[in-house]
Amino acid sequence: MGKMKIDQAAEYLRKNFFPRWDRAHKWKIRMCGLEDIHYANGLCDKETKTISIAYFGDYGLEAFLIHEICHAVTDGYHGIRWQSRMEKAAKKRMNLAEMSWQQKS
Ligand SMILES: [Zn+2]
Repeated sequence: MGKMKIDQAAEYLRKNFFPRWDRAHKWKIRMCGLEDIHYANGLCDKETKTISIAYFGDYGLEAFLIHEICHAVTDGYHGIRWQSRMEKAAKKRMNLAEMSWQQKS
């Protein structure tokens, strides 16, 4: 997984999903090794403002980035605020998929 791809995905999500988050670009988004984040798929470190993705399997990079950015913009781990932000992103994603499908047909 190249650096280009994660940078592109991050830029796309910033623009389309989290436009009010991190306008000053203080957060870093990077790929890392599984051992770097204790064998989790991804990690959102608020102290260093770093989102790390180690592995994203079949769900795709975007889905994991959305998961971690939702941590960046909410508190309380996978609590109610995080869940509702995830839901909002999921709906947006479906709408975008629908739009591109319509454009192609
Ligand atoms: Zn999580």
